[in-house]
Order: sequence, then C-alpha cells, then structure tokens
Amino acid sequence: TMRESYASENDSGFKCLKPDLRPIVVVGGYGQLGSLFCRLFELSGYEVRKLGSQDWGRADELLSDAGMVVVSVPIHLTEQVIAKLGNLPEDCILADLTSVKAGPLQAMLEVHHGPVVGLHPMFGPDISSLAKQVVVYCDGRSPESYQWLLEQFQIWGATLNRISAVEHDQGMTLIQALRHFTSFVYGVHLAEEDPKLEQLMSLSSPIYRLELAMVGRLFAQDAQLYADIIMSSPQNLAMIKRFHQRFGEAIEMLDTQDKEAFKRAFNQVEHWFGDYAQHFLIESQGLLRQANDTTQR
Ligand code: NAD
Repeated sequence: TMRESYASENDSGFKCLKPDLRPIVVVGGYGQLGSLFCRLFELSGYEVRKLGSQDWGRADELLSDAGMVVVSVPIHLTEQVIAKLGNLPEDCILADLTSVKAGPLQAMLEVHHGPVVGLHPMFGPDISSLAKQVVVYCDGRSPESYQWLLEQFQIWGATLNRISAVEHDQGMTLIQALRHFTSFVYGVHLAEEDPKLEQLMSLSSPIYRLELAMVGRLFAQDAQLYADIIMSSPQNLAMIKRFHQRFGEAIEMLDTQDKEAFKRAFNQVEHWFGDYAQHFLIESQGLLRQANDTTQR
C-alpha cells in the first residue's frame, strides 16, 4: 500500500537535490507543520535547525550561516516574525508555509534581499505521505535559486502549482475561509441542537457521514489556525456576508412555499455547473465506494 511504501522510503531516506546547502532553519519548527517539514528535510539528508519561540536569544547564532529559512509560525504572528529576519546571508533562501500569501510574501521581500518564495502546502500535519498532495507556490525573487526546492517537494511526491499571491488569496476566500466557516457554523448548530451523534450516524447515508466527517475533523484541529484563516482578510468577511445574504434569500422561498422559484434557482445552478454536475456525481460515487470499503462501523 501507499502507507507501507512511504514507511520504507523513510527508512532509506529521500534523494537530496542540494547536498551542499548550508543548514535549513525552520522558524516554528516545533509546531505541527514545521516539524513535518523538518522531518522531510532530515530524511533527505539536509542539516535542520529549529528556531522556536524561546530561541530568539540565540537567533543570530542559528541564522548566521543559514542556507534556507522557512517560516512556519501561527498566521497572526507571521509578519512580525518575518520582520525579525533582516540579517540573513545574502544568498539564503527565505520561504514561508503560511496559509495566506500576499502579506507574508510582501514582508519577506521587504526584509530580505536574496531569494524569496512563498509556499502553501494544501494539507495538514495529519498526512502520512506527500504523495498526490499539492504545494502551491508564489514566486518572490530569484526563482532560479530555489528550483531545486520545488523539485525536492516533487521527490517527496507532491504536485506543485504556481500562482500569484493575490490570486491565491482570492481563491482561498472560497476554498478555505467560506468552507471552514460553514463547517464551523454547522458544528455550532449541531452542538446547540445536541442530537445523539451515534444515532445520527446509524441513520446516515455514506454521503452524510462524509459530511459529518468533514465538519467533525475541523474540531479535532487548532482553533487559532482556523480563526486566523477565516479572519485573514476583509474579502473573506465580505464573501461570507454575501453567502449569508443568499442563505436568507433562499429561506424566503421556503417561507412563501415558492417551489417554482426553488426549481428556477436549481436549474440555474445546474446550468452553471454544466458538465461538471455529471462529472461530480460520478466522482462522488467513486469516493463513496471507497469510503464504504474503509468504514469500520
Ligand atoms: P502550530 O501552532 O502547530 O506551530 C507554530 C509554531 O510556531 C509553534 O511551535 C509555536 O510555538 C511557534 N512560534 C510561535 N511564535 C513563535 C516565534 N515568535 N518564533 C518562533 N516560533 C514561534 O501551527 P501550524 O498548524 O504548524 O501552522 C504553522 C503555519 O503553517 C501557519 O502559517 C499555517 O497557516 C501554516 N499551515 C498550516 C496547516 C495546518 O493544517 N496545520 C496547513 C497549511 C499551512
């Protein structure tokens, strides 16, 4: 299986594409995502140092000969931490793993005059392998000096997608902020309604179990991270308010029992999805078959 082949790859390590790189310093390297990347870099033979929140007293010592610095601290602290990195070697690569990109990228370009790249791994620390996972990156400065890094991610199994920081943040308004927020509200609603979760699951179709899983997994993770992601930009809030407004409009159809309006809206959306509606129906059938095969209870 995928998991086993990853385990054996770990034992033998991954190929190292930049053996002459000076030490990699991961700021926030004791955190969830930071420690995952530390492990991967170590497995590939790089020398890795962690710079945690208590280590700023010896930051100069840790950073003076860094070949690459990767920032992986909580979002709300990212820009102020980046601002402390003004003394890196000229040829050092400065990168970050933040879930938002425009602000941190700008801060990195301002503080450091060498190579800069913004990274957003589209996965959390709970994955067992980078196989088929996506890493989004935003070019900052001197891309030729960090091509090896992007290739290293590919050796770990990841797929890379390049995008501008602004477009990234716009996309994340829907993909992260709105989606996590609706999961959050659904969780709040469930907790208030207080149904018996066991019973709910026994009554569920596989697709509803998946929905429960998608909502429930949010609450197994870090509240600060999701507060930061959802509230990271005014455009997120504006998007969420538009959604709220449409929710209200849709409820009006129910209040007036307007099934014709409901069907008109339904058909408009169907038309908007186009061929994708059928595509998603088939794709979800495949996912549900897999979910059925692996569900324990
Ligand atoms: P985390 O809280 O687990 O880790 C952050 C680490 O930074 C902690 O160890 C904390 O002690 C440390 N830290 C705090 N202040 C510091 C300082 N001043 N100097 C040095 N270290 C400091 O958070 P995480 O989930 O690993 O997230 C880190 C980054 O990764 C965030 O930018 C987040 O957006 C990004 N990210 C997280 C996920 C995820 O699912 N967890 C996914 C993609 C991207």
